[in-house]
Amino acid sequence: MIGAVPDCLFCGIATGEIPATIVLDGKRTLAFRDISPQAPTHILVIPREHYPDVAALASAGGGLLDEIVGQAREVAAAEGIEASGYRIVFNTGSDGGQTVGHAHAHVLGGRSMTWPPG
Ligand code: AMP
Ligand code: ZN
Repeated sequence: MIGAVPDCLFCGIATGEIPATIVLDGKRTLAFRDISPQAPTHILVIPREHYPDVAALASAGGGLLDEIVGQAREVAAAEGIEASGYRIVFNTGSDGGQTVGHAHAHVLGGRSMTWPPG
């Protein structure tokens, strides 16, 4: 577990220093709207503590990854897309398309998703 990392965008959102449209506010997790939505619902779920990616989050244990996925489900329910379905994505590393080095789940829905992803 690592505290807030200077110059980390999502640590800044977690501490409130950087504004975001918060959807759900959990004790250890936070959900907010993606600034560049790729679907009618596009929300990011992050751990408040800094982990560089989902693999580090999983290695840390303690049930935090479970809470991230649990909050993603709560987001889907709050957005009315739980029944229609949604996609949870953890872009990981350069080829995975990760651009922010603070673990985050994308929750995408409100339209039919295509496969394979680009
Ligand atoms: P990734 O490319 O998987 O690392 O995802 C990073 C996501 O963060 C992208 O979908 C961006 O649109 C989103 N993003 C970047 N800056 C912000 C911000 N200030 N508030 C909300 N979402 C952001
Ligand atoms: Zn961070």
